[in-house]
Order: sequence, then structure tokens, then C-alpha cells
Amino acid sequence: MPELPEVETIRRQLSEHLAGRTITSTRVLDPLLVDPEDPADFARRLTGRALREIRRTGKYLFIELDDGEALALHLRMTGQLLWTPGEPDEPTPYARAVLGFDDGSMVTFADPRRFGRAWFLPAGRAARSRAWGRRTGVDAMSPGFTARSLGASLERRTAAIKALILDQRIVAGVGNIYADEALFRARIHPRRPGGSLTQAEVRRLHRAIRDRLRMGISVGGASFDRYRDAHGGRGGMQDLFLVHRRQGEPCPRCRTIIEKGVVAQRGTYWCPRCQPLEAEVQGEADVEAQGEAEVKVQAAC
Ligand SMILES: [Zn+2]
Repeated sequence: MPELPEVETIRRQLSEHLAGRTITSTRVLDPLLVDPEDPADFARRLTGRALREIRRTGKYLFIELDDGEALALHLRMTGQLLWTPGEPDEPTPYARAVLGFDDGSMVTFADPRRFGRAWFLPAGRAARSRAWGRRTGVDAMSPGFTARSLGASLERRTAAIKALILDQRIVAGVGNIYADEALFRARIHPRRPGGSLTQAEVRRLHRAIRDRLRMGISVGGASFDRYRDAHGGRGGMQDLFLVHRRQGEPCPRCRTIIEKGVVAQRGTYWCPRCQPLEAEVQGEADVEAQGEAEVKVQAAC
């Protein structure tokens, strides 16, 4: 599933091509994409509008229109937004909607599994916020996401830390890939109860989330699967994964074999030595303390 870096890559590419452009045609090929809106009404509403800017919160894109409304898009599992300078040479497989622009360029929403959605958001801050509800909390790359805000959201929580950072209301934009990578960077076991993290661990985790997302953006996202950018290109993050999808391989830090299990109903990868299940006694653990924690975990098994 595209996460923050993948959606941000698409946002940047589309912004470059489309800012200020007018939508001259709208074809909805799959009514489910715009459900419950009528596809003809949807097309009428969108056609003729100019694009002011394209924004992003978490994994959602917002195409801001000249009348103050926005078109919200979520790619879900397998959605792609493909830009072409004109009509594509061949029909795009799994196309669900096609937008045409005043310079002849086109954007195709393609989506084999059809979980992606597009819908209108009203003009005006209050109406927008009512319509949006509590779908997302603070974006992981925004200044509002701080170690302090993360710590406050984790307080007294008994759920696994991985489940909590996947919760888009706590931090928007982190999905399965970047959760595993950030937890490894922060040396925190994905099954640790959120409320058990020390302040030092919360700070490390906040830093690690930012660091891995920034890395993902800088290489255009992760393309081990379906994800393609707006030009149909692949990202490079899959070659930089530290633990994600690397079970059975040596940990890049300590050479211990990386494990895989299920946490928060998702395939999860971690290093059993660098990410002990036991909480740190205090502050930053040194290597020796981590070794001891590992022995304790083994004894408990
Ligand atoms: Zn390790």
C-alpha cells in the first residue's frame, strides 16, 4: 500500500505538471470509485475547474479546486495516478477514471483491486473539517508531529507500539513498511506496549519515523510490488530496507538473523537482538544492556 513517501512522490510530480491547469474532461469508468456520488454528476462537477494546488495529509491527496472545494483521493492498496503528456499510447490496464487537462495532458486513476476512492470535500474550513471528521491526525512530516505529541498519544496505551504508529489518528502517513523500518532504527520491539516506552525511546522513535519517511521520499518511495509513481516509474526504497521483507537475512547492525511475525495483523520484521521485547531500565541502552535483555527474553520463552 502506498504510504506517505509514495503519496508525496506522486503529489510532487502531479503538482509540477498540473498546478494552475484546468480540467477539460472527466471520464469515470468505474462508478465504485466515486460511490455514493453519481458518476455523471461527479464528472460535471469536476470538469471546467482549475487546480489551485495539490496537498497531502498522511496517505490522502487533496486536489484543491478554484471554487474552494477539493477532490480527495485515497489510493488504498493498489491505486495509481499516472500522468501522460497526451492520450496514453495504449489503454491503461485497470483504469477507473481519466481526467483531461487544458494542455492535453491526462491523469489516469488505475487500480486493479478497486479499493481506492475519490470524493468531494466542501469549501470553507469549518465545513471541510466537519466532512473530514477524525479520519487522520497530524501528518508525520508536519511540524505538528513532535516527540512530545507522540509521547502524549502513547501514554498508558497497552496496545503494541506498531499498532499505535499504524493508527492514522495518532500519526498520519506511516504504514507497514515505514513502521518496521522506524522501529528498527529506534531499537524498539514492535510488540512493546506503547505506554511502556521511555522518554528516550519516544524521542528515538519520533526521529526514526521522520528519518525513514524522509529517506523514502528522497528515493521516490518503495516499489517491491504495485507502487509506481505518476510517471509509471519505480521508487528505490525497497533496496534500502533495513529489516522489512528481509526475514532470514542478517541484521545490518548486529548480524543476528531478522525475524518475521504477525503484529497488528500485519507481517512484521525485526531484529531480536537490536529490538528486545523487554523495556529499557533507563535512558539510552548500551549494547551490553541490550544483550542482557535478549537473554531475559530467551529465558522467558
Ligand atoms: Zn540487530
